[in-house]
Amino acid sequence: FMYDLPKNEPVLSYLPCSPEREALEKEIKRLSSSVMDIPLIIGGKEVRTGKLGKVVMPHNHSHVLAQYHIAGEEETHMAIEAALKAHEYWSQVSWVERLSITLKVAELISKKYRATLNAATMLGQGKNVYQAEIDAACETIDFLRFNAHYISEIYNQQPISETGTINRLEYRPLEGFIFTVSPFNFTAIASNLNMAPVLMGNTVVWKPASTALLSNYILMQIYKEAGVPDGVINFIPGKGSAIGNAVFNHPMLAGIHFTGSTATFNTFWKAVSNNIAKYRSYPKLVGETGGKDFIFVHPSANINQAVIAAVRGAFEYQGQKCSAASRAYIPESLWPEFKKNILGIMHEINMGDPTDYETFVNAVIDEASFDNIMSYIEKAKQSDAAEIIAGGKGDKSKGYFVEPTIIVTTDPHFVTMEEEIFGPVLTIYVYPDEKFEETLELCDKTSPYALTGAIFSSDRQALNKACRVLRYSAGNFYFNDKPTGAVVGQQPFGGARASGTNDKAGGPFNLIRWTSPRTIKENL
Ligand code: GLU
Repeated sequence: FMYDLPKNEPVLSYLPCSPEREALEKEIKRLSSSVMDIPLIIGGKEVRTGKLGKVVMPHNHSHVLAQYHIAGEEETHMAIEAALKAHEYWSQVSWVERLSITLKVAELISKKYRATLNAATMLGQGKNVYQAEIDAACETIDFLRFNAHYISEIYNQQPISETGTINRLEYRPLEGFIFTVSPFNFTAIASNLNMAPVLMGNTVVWKPASTALLSNYILMQIYKEAGVPDGVINFIPGKGSAIGNAVFNHPMLAGIHFTGSTATFNTFWKAVSNNIAKYRSYPKLVGETGGKDFIFVHPSANINQAVIAAVRGAFEYQGQKCSAASRAYIPESLWPEFKKNILGIMHEINMGDPTDYETFVNAVIDEASFDNIMSYIEKAKQSDAAEIIAGGKGDKSKGYFVEPTIIVTTDPHFVTMEEEIFGPVLTIYVYPDEKFEETLELCDKTSPYALTGAIFSSDRQALNKACRVLRYSAGNFYFNDKPTGAVVGQQPFGGARASGTNDKAGGPFNLIRWTSPRTIKENL
């Protein structure tokens, strides 16, 4: 059996009076006029611990969208047991059936729950409709459908057999449970962290981000409706430390599927290493972590193209993407015009409520994030080596709003050139034109991350040079485009160095990590 390469889910436009806009409006109203009660889901059963947390709207934090029950160590043990129990059944289910359930999830999101998932992502995670649509709808669906294609390719790959023997590879799921830890910034990533190992026959214990629970809980309901059996995905919101304690000490921990900060991923490696003798198998650690992604402009670049890429790459979704453009290298000769053009656009950027179709930027996710971003802006204000040429202010009285901010620095190693901020802050370093090559080297050595990057030039030699010098500086490298917005099936996504294990989400490399193949030789 082969599931052919699918097409990407079309991005809807949400024009006034369009059916998609009407459906979305209804769901926005419905979800914002009640307070959802979000339980844990363990073995298909709702579990209410009574220890409660709140989900609020980032742009209006006095508005509570949901209350959720917090899992502790005991519930984590229950979730692990439920995952191991479900493994007995799910790991035996044929891959074609798993594939068909996966496609059913995609179908339900495309046709029935698109508006609900988008509305939840907009209200709970602060995305405007366009950012929600490319994430919660299109990318979530694409991950499911493309993985369905790639599993068929994998299962059809078999070793050679000489006359008189049959050799076969049995793509067994891992023996044990998978621990998934998802970030707030992409509903699609949260879904894929679970559904990729599940497609390969594994069962998971899922710790979602507390700030993304509205959309993530809706995902759980969609999985159930599509036929994902009870116990295959166990949903346990809560504190990392309590959950981690139970997970990392369990002998059947078979893998970790993670997207989030480099620091958190490092603690997982340490915890696994401390417990290594306990595990039945070596757990597979798959993670996509931070980024300090660059835009590098060559003197031959089209200035407008580079300016638009900088604005979109740095400020869409408030810069809360691992792929966000957060440092830029601009040649002296283009700087006056680049500066004039980018400041012109900055004056037109609207900030506000994500459900307003005219806003380009919205609030950042929560107070901790707001404070962290503002502390970097403060560092720029204090420094003689940095000047803020746009934005620079924040206001958290009603929502967590940070103005899109541009810092220009004379120090290529200024803190905001090196550290991930995860907010709407772009730092620019202006370099002498004749130092193109040295500045490429500098760019490579400036940060420990290597997720995405972009080079702008109309000169093929310059593009090739950048591609060569920056070979290990990014796992996703763009010629004349912004470094964000990788599309499943088109630009497989992921980076190395401090940015992760580079298993490329939504593709065969990632899926293979969730299998433990057995070779069977049979003499005829
Ligand atoms: N895949 C997303 C992009 O290309 C970024 C994912 C992330 O922020 O983790 O923009």
